[in-house]
Amino acid sequence: TNEKFIYRRILLKISGEVLQGVNQFGIDMKSLKRIAKEIKSIVEIGIQVGLVIGSGNLFRGARLSKMGLNRVASDHIGILSTVINSLAMRDAINSLSSIKTCLMSAIPLNGICEIYSYEKAMSLLSNQFVIIFAAGTGNPFFTTDSAACLRGIETEADIILKGTKVNGVYSTDPKKDSNAILYKKLTYKDVLHNELKVMDLAAFTLARDYQLPIRVFNINEPGSLYRIIMGNDEGTLITK
Ligand code: UDP
Repeated sequence: TNEKFIYRRILLKISGEVLQGVNQFGIDMKSLKRIAKEIKSIVEIGIQVGLVIGSGNLFRGARLSKMGLNRVASDHIGILSTVINSLAMRDAINSLSSIKTCLMSAIPLNGICEIYSYEKAMSLLSNQFVIIFAAGTGNPFFTTDSAACLRGIETEADIILKGTKVNGVYSTDPKKDSNAILYKKLTYKDVLHNELKVMDLAAFTLARDYQLPIRVFNINEPGSLYRIIMGNDEGTLITK
């Protein structure tokens, strides 16, 4: 390929909500297939992709514990929900012929998927497999953003691309404030100082400590992932 792109390896994080489409809960096949195609479009031009999927469309630990479940049990349910989303995404990507995938879970789930292995992940990424990192970090009290930063740093990704339903990082909540400003560029310091909502702090400080750039963008905008890979300045970029 003679197309130019600015990244070699990325860690794509998608929130669970992106998979629910217009529904209130669960997985919308149309959204799932669309995201799978977006991923295919960048794998085809030679980008190495690690993928982490949240589970806001199914169960989130914080929500369950508010409803009265024990927090650790709640997070375990959240963790397993990320595996459910990952299984669906693997299937959707596999059905697009020519893309190779590997689903690696942070916790052993024999017979369903592989367990995470650093060595194997590195080797498969280099061989153009899309690696889906499921089950978050495998521990309660963390999020899939933490898992994305962790796996991103481990696998030496050039950037975390955080695909959400919104256009990027705003000064205030754009749903509540019509004067909210969408930032194009921020430093880690700006985010911390102004308490901007990018990720939870555990995840964010990990990215900062290892200087892993983050771009928050709207993955529901068709072609956004591809355009960003080609250097388009879309969403919000957070760097040193
Ligand atoms: N979770 C966890 N440890 C992890 C990753 C995830 O306990 O390392 C649980 C946690 O309950 C969380 C849920 O899984 O709420 C889903 O992840 P997240 O909230 O990050 O999903 P998203 O908001 O991205 O859809």
